[in-house]
Amino acid sequence: MKVIKFGGSSLASSTQLQKVLSIVKADDQRRYVIVSAPGKRFDGDTKVTDLLIQYARQTIHRQDTTAIVDTIIDRYAEIGHGFNVPDDQLEPIFDIIRNLPKQPYADNTYLMAAFKAHGERLNAQLVAAVFQKSGLNARYLDPKDAGMVVTDVPDDAQFIDSSYQALAKWANSDQILVIPGFFAYNRNGQICTFSRGGSDITGAIIARGVNAERYENFTDVDAIYAVNPSLVAQPAAIAEMTFREMRELSYAGFSVFHDEALIPAIQGNITVNVKNTNHPEAPGTLIQSTKATSTKYPVTGIASSSSFCSLYLRKYLLNKEVGFGRKILTILEDHHVSYEHMPSGIDDLTIIFDEHQLTPELEKELTAEISAAVHPDELYFTHDYSILMIVGENMRNRVGIMSRAATALADNNIKLIMVNQGASEISIMFGVHDRDADQAVIALYNEFFK
Ligand code: ASP
Repeated sequence: MKVIKFGGSSLASSTQLQKVLSIVKADDQRRYVIVSAPGKRFDGDTKVTDLLIQYARQTIHRQDTTAIVDTIIDRYAEIGHGFNVPDDQLEPIFDIIRNLPKQPYADNTYLMAAFKAHGERLNAQLVAAVFQKSGLNARYLDPKDAGMVVTDVPDDAQFIDSSYQALAKWANSDQILVIPGFFAYNRNGQICTFSRGGSDITGAIIARGVNAERYENFTDVDAIYAVNPSLVAQPAAIAEMTFREMRELSYAGFSVFHDEALIPAIQGNITVNVKNTNHPEAPGTLIQSTKATSTKYPVTGIASSSSFCSLYLRKYLLNKEVGFGRKILTILEDHHVSYEHMPSGIDDLTIIFDEHQLTPELEKELTAEISAAVHPDELYFTHDYSILMIVGENMRNRVGIMSRAATALADNNIKLIMVNQGASEISIMFGVHDRDADQAVIALYNEFFK
């Protein structure tokens, strides 16, 4: 049995849904179909999820919602009409959209979660109706009925492991079950969503829960590429990669597959196959625990992300001072700030953070508290900070990767501000200025793939 997930661009219009229908019909092992909300039809279009966020905001601020409601209804109407779904099946969907503000919500965070979740919830109902009309033995399955219980965080829920037991009873389904991605319910029965892009997570949870033989993740690219295709023309496609490689690359910006979706896949040892709805015959990329074939390249992928910032600290004789690190980490913990890396020298220390956690006010507080606690000679935050990663299982047994990477960067006049081989044998991390990041990725790609 296969779990098959379609992203928003695969479901953006009736034309796209026609392709989805053909893909589902082409293999009778495809029994669990996870759907996103309708996504962008063209550059500059708005995803239904983002329309629903606007609708929720206007509702919270008691603004006129007529136009946004019409826009959202039009998205579903176009898909339904494209398959001649009768109005008596479409009208209930439109009514749910109109009536979202009238439902009871504990507070605005739950309201926002419920509005957002309806992008996938209504789409799954519509897709199930289209499948039935096209002769498939299919039905809608709500995450509540499936038994998916999540933690009580309305916009960043985590699946509660004990509910895998409930999911197991849906194994070996004779019917095609169409399940909305992105959301489930907390123990009080309230809707909570995963983080953005979270339909991938639903797919992985269902795949593990029903012990699927494969999780096919359909999106709009032929494969995961070794490097961002907007930086390098026709980059090498990755035929196979390990879960660890994917984890490290998604950390530094590979976004084709949600990083939280890897956990259920790893736990259930489910092979993930990223494929293209627009080109389903292409083999795509396999993500699994080990690779079946070897490649000539020492490096599997190169990624970079600018969503980092750093705190630099210098203090003479820092290396001799007992408790220096503990005092700083306690302050971070008191502010619920996690750190990513902490490369240190003799008298210097850099702490790297995910930039999204910090605000200018929080930086000021941290600066004041850390200064008072450890009296550094120098301390400052830098936002001009990108992390670059080269990742590959093959790096484990190759000599000279660091030297090749550093030479390629030096030849391109790129200043390194941090190097971290760290504990991982399968990756090397570089800190560079944001302005150098793209050039650095291209230089590394040319070195390892050309
Ligand atoms: N529709 C949601 C989003 O745009 C979830 C998803 O597409 O996976 O974030």
